[in-house]
Amino acid sequence: MSLQITVRSSTPLATALAADDELVVIGCWAFAGSSAKTDKGARRGKSAATKAGKGLSEPIAELVELDARFHGAVSAYARREDFKGKREQTLRVPTFGRVPARTIVLLGLGERDAKGVTPVEARSFAGRAARMAVTEKATALVVVVPSGIDAHLRQVAEGLTLGAYRFTKYLTGDRKPKESLSKVTVALTGKAPRDAKALTELGQRIGEAVNLSRDLSNEPANELPPAALAHAAQVVARANRLKVQVFDAKEIVRRKMHLLYAVGRGSRNEPRFVHLSYSPAGKAKKRLVFVGKGITFDSGGLSIKPAAGMGEMKHDMSGAGNMVGLMAAVAALKPSVEVHAIMACAENMPDGDAYRPGDIFGSLDGKTVEIINTDAEGRLVLADALAYAKALKPDLLVNNATLTGACLVALGSGCSAFYATSEDAAAEFGAAVKEAGEQMWRMPLIEELREAMRSDVADIKHTGDRYGGSITGALFLREFIGDVKNFVHADIAGPVTTERAFSWNPKGATGHGVLSYLSLVERAART
Ligand SMILES: [Zn+2]
Repeated sequence: MSLQITVRSSTPLATALAADDELVVIGCWAFAGSSAKTDKGARRGKSAATKAGKGLSEPIAELVELDARFHGAVSAYARREDFKGKREQTLRVPTFGRVPARTIVLLGLGERDAKGVTPVEARSFAGRAARMAVTEKATALVVVVPSGIDAHLRQVAEGLTLGAYRFTKYLTGDRKPKESLSKVTVALTGKAPRDAKALTELGQRIGEAVNLSRDLSNEPANELPPAALAHAAQVVARANRLKVQVFDAKEIVRRKMHLLYAVGRGSRNEPRFVHLSYSPAGKAKKRLVFVGKGITFDSGGLSIKPAAGMGEMKHDMSGAGNMVGLMAAVAALKPSVEVHAIMACAENMPDGDAYRPGDIFGSLDGKTVEIINTDAEGRLVLADALAYAKALKPDLLVNNATLTGACLVALGSGCSAFYATSEDAAAEFGAAVKEAGEQMWRMPLIEELREAMRSDVADIKHTGDRYGGSITGALFLREFIGDVKNFVHADIAGPVTTERAFSWNPKGATGHGVLSYLSLVERAART
């Protein structure tokens, strides 16, 4: 069910608090011990502070009004609890029937940067507010948006939609949530921009698109074999008038995608190859091609994985799942660039027909590949997908995959690695990631590691040494991009899921990557 988001402008706090049986979340910039960095709103609030709220050393306008309603009790409580609006700080204020709203939560935003509030801060604030509403089991939420954040209504709507996300499809009886957050009022103290409705609608559609990627990633492997993942792409294409092509196992063989077929051989669930595309109404400024790994379950194949943690391998299709969400978001945005998304989908299982270590296969690119470890299947299906993608002659080719555990060893579980074949591509991709507020760190393509992939019996081995595993994965993929100049590979194995809710991400699948790729698309359309 879709959230109902309404923007109310020039809302005095009293109106926000008058909402019956609702949770009111008030964003607060850091205000105590404030330096020159303190926000303008705080300074404006200073005169009013002399009446109420003088308990706060430098209160913000919204707090002052709230404090007045409670005869100074809120500032006294905030002082006692040492609430200073620091980032990640929250203060739950019970209302005891003093106002109709059941609970008020003050949400700390940290120091406000003098250079301005970023869209990422706005999305993060709204995401935290929505997560809080879900935790508090509120069906309706009022978010009092502080000054600065109100300039980013689209990201506020994105954050609300992302933060309210839960994967509850398989819960029944008592476990099934009886009620869920359905209504959000965004209360602006100032005037709303004229396009407020369009901005929130766009933000909501983008949030829902990322949630779609999360849904696919959270879906168990028994419910999401390659054919179902391909079907999800078709549903999005139909709903948004995108072009879509799906190749079944027969077509995959006919098109000589031998590596993709080889990986899928060990499963009864046949592989699928998906090509989604969007073209703008006018002339396209650029052509961006994205590729995603769609291993719907990765047992490791004959090089089988240890039992512990194998269930997590249902998320091994997150790169492809990201493609579905990305294209839904692109369809909402209608940018003036051409965007293609390619998904290589297979299940890696150890059946009697499974591919083996030592096997040699051809590929769409023509190169022959010697199989070393059947658990390094992602780069094989991607090699054929990249060979297909290069024929589209992209200005920028981006691959994304939960490719290696080595990447987690290098950067931890909250940050992805990315590799780029040109400085231009690296700069552009890095800027997009920053703009989106996701964490990805550039890693080097160390040429010496290529030596370890030399094969005596085929053109190339598909794995190298144990050390530098994420890098050799990237080097292997690079073999299949032909003369594409701008290529980026993102190894997203860590952040596609999270054990701990943070910012706009609840626990579980995050859809990590989609927002960065979308920002890449928007940047290309802007230039
Ligand atoms: Zn694997």
